[in-house]
Amino acid sequence: MALDIRRPLLERFLRYVKLGTSADPTSETYPSSSSQLVVGKLLCDELIAMGVRDCTQDEFGMVWATIPASSHEFANSPMILLNSHVDTSPEAPGENVKPQVIENFDGKPITLGSSGAVIDPASCPDMLNLIGKTLVVTDGTTLLGGDDKAGVAVIMQLAEYLTSQTGIEHKIEHGPVRILFTCDEEIGQGTRHITLKKLAARSLGEQPIAPLVGYTLDGGDQGQIDEETFSADMAIVRFKGSNIHPAIAKGRMINAVRAAAMFVDLLPTDRFSPESTEGREGFLHPYDLHAVVGEATVQLILRDFDEAKLHEYKSLLDRIGEEVMLQLPGLQIEIETKEQYRNMAAGIAKLPEAVLYAEEAYKALDVSCQRTIVRGGTDGSLLTAMGLPTPNLSVGQHNIHAVTEFACLDQMVVAVEHLIELLKRWSKHKS
Ligand SMILES: [Zn+2]
Repeated sequence: MALDIRRPLLERFLRYVKLGTSADPTSETYPSSSSQLVVGKLLCDELIAMGVRDCTQDEFGMVWATIPASSHEFANSPMILLNSHVDTSPEAPGENVKPQVIENFDGKPITLGSSGAVIDPASCPDMLNLIGKTLVVTDGTTLLGGDDKAGVAVIMQLAEYLTSQTGIEHKIEHGPVRILFTCDEEIGQGTRHITLKKLAARSLGEQPIAPLVGYTLDGGDQGQIDEETFSADMAIVRFKGSNIHPAIAKGRMINAVRAAAMFVDLLPTDRFSPESTEGREGFLHPYDLHAVVGEATVQLILRDFDEAKLHEYKSLLDRIGEEVMLQLPGLQIEIETKEQYRNMAAGIAKLPEAVLYAEEAYKALDVSCQRTIVRGGTDGSLLTAMGLPTPNLSVGQHNIHAVTEFACLDQMVVAVEHLIELLKRWSKHKS
């Protein structure tokens, strides 16, 4: 297809990543950082300038827009939702991003500014497929934010393409497209304020139109169609001890610090841990511990592709808790679990074309593709659970959540071309 979008897409991406939008897990507000509101407003303004009349930023900072069908003939084609998130991970610094563009990558390690950080192809095998491509890296002091500004830029470039079709050679036929930019995805809050009612477009006729399928643009490398995610719960283990001056503690003190340490020590590390699992294997992961003598809490995440396994992990936590209580008489343990998201495989399987058309669209571009699983979740997991099948697609993100993060411009271009092919297929879909 060879669209002439490389330069505008690169400029757009650089413009967005320079505006840091780290999510803040300690914040009480939504979105968790005001910079997300600023970027959302910019996206809204840019969409309106493209001529997208139905575009709003809601009270939560999320941006909603609708691009009508290319002509009356396709007004009744299914509406497609495209979504990505504007926030970036709090796991690495995300402000004052200074992106560097590397043209024609030579396959050698890339030194990031004067930071001392290096992206080494030896520890990032994806890079060997990227020789000759254009990469965007950082100066080594921050993450890049290609997760998910790459997805944002790809959707915005598509919007520009769909709204500025003048040359007959570029004209494509498509049904209505709904666009959604979410906030705070990185802290598990991306879909908190999304409802089916809001997903429907109200500007296209008398009745609101609901999307039939969604695609999250938040994937890695190229040609990956994520159709499965983990099922996820979190567990908060509360230890209640008893504090007293150590001088008079004999037979009276019950130390919750010891209890929490014992509990973590009894969790398996040779299996069911992130450090020992890969592929379809699940895990229990203690990620936070706060302890004083009187009380302690340990927080864990429970992950598995098979939802039933989460119950086994919970039973394991109960058994370990009982063991600790036996060792420390008088200590109390309470374990609370909360559902986070569920594997989207079953929901996506209800609309096989969601993945089939994505595969066909890659084939039309002569790009190899594969169905993949995500050892995590996406906004699409919760959208799928709400009844909107939403696979996740590649946008050329690499080494995410780290200062060695980079994005591949060539793969972002393919992501835009892929969406165009996908829209063509859905425009002819008959349900
Ligand atoms: Zn992401």
